[in-house]
Amino acid sequence: VGPQAYHHLPDMTRRAANGKPIIDTRLSEIDKFASLPTHRGRGPSAFITVQEGCDKFCSFCVVPYTRGAESSRPAGEIIEEARHLATVGVREITLLGQNVNAYRDANDCGLAELLYRLAAIDGLERLRFTTSHPCDMSDDLIAAFAACPELMPYLHLPPQSGSDRILKLMNRKHTADDYIRLVQKIRHAKPDILMSGDFIVGFPGETDGDFEETLALVREVEYGQSYSFRYSARPGTPAAERDPVADHVAAERLQRLQTVLREQQRASQRAMIGRQVSVLLEREGRHEGQLSGKSEHLHMVNIDAPRSRLGDIVSARVEAADSNSLRARMVDIG
Ligand code: SF4
Repeated sequence: VGPQAYHHLPDMTRRAANGKPIIDTRLSEIDKFASLPTHRGRGPSAFITVQEGCDKFCSFCVVPYTRGAESSRPAGEIIEEARHLATVGVREITLLGQNVNAYRDANDCGLAELLYRLAAIDGLERLRFTTSHPCDMSDDLIAAFAACPELMPYLHLPPQSGSDRILKLMNRKHTADDYIRLVQKIRHAKPDILMSGDFIVGFPGETDGDFEETLALVREVEYGQSYSFRYSARPGTPAAERDPVADHVAAERLQRLQTVLREQQRASQRAMIGRQVSVLLEREGRHEGQLSGKSEHLHMVNIDAPRSRLGDIVSARVEAADSNSLRARMVDIG
């Protein structure tokens, strides 16, 4: 069963107790979206799941089997929920989906149109979406980064590998060059966008040469944030049938990749020093008298500010940076 079926567990355990097998990955649209958690008015930032499932069938991934085919929640429902969230103080919404940029509802509303409609809601000032597949990064969605000020300048766009041979084995349906040209197009539309990515190291069949191509792609793109993992086989997926890369080789490659990615993240944080940023204050910070929040580029920012400013979007000047967060002084006291 897929994780979206947890609300059927009591029934499933009863059926299992009677010795009946439980295999259920074909849930209705209503089931898929009815099980989603609702925001309870805590904090100014919320998530809305707008899309479920995936049709891409990357050879290492179980999502298409456990969550089924792509399906999109009707835009009208999402907008209604977002309106409600705005009335309880939510200022920022992140739209979620396994392959969120493939979003398209039954009335042919795509993700770009959905973002414009959400941006028109009073009180909603920030929009984000994750996770995107490079092949579904349409021109209208790229244009939205330039045309819709509410859409924050941050994009998580996983390349997984920089080797065309491995990308083909992964069934990613694009080349390294396609990905790099796509990033150039996105940066042309939104020059200061912060790019984030996922990487799998030690995919079965990956050679030293393939890995060097991944490092080359990382150096070319320059990521402000990233998530990198050693390949781990998921039973039932095509990649799990292939011979794995030796553990020590994969471990050493991951370490090398993470060294480069960490340095890029630090450089991205350091580049913010002296800049004025807008910060949504979400929670109390670690130190007395401090609040924490996210910048437009999704940097974590700590600011000395009274508790009464929680939920506000404030301007602040960045004074210091470490690898995970920025420290800033508020310049907006209104
Ligand atoms: Fe779909 Fe992402 Fe899994 Fe590929 S990795 S099958 S795009 S969910």
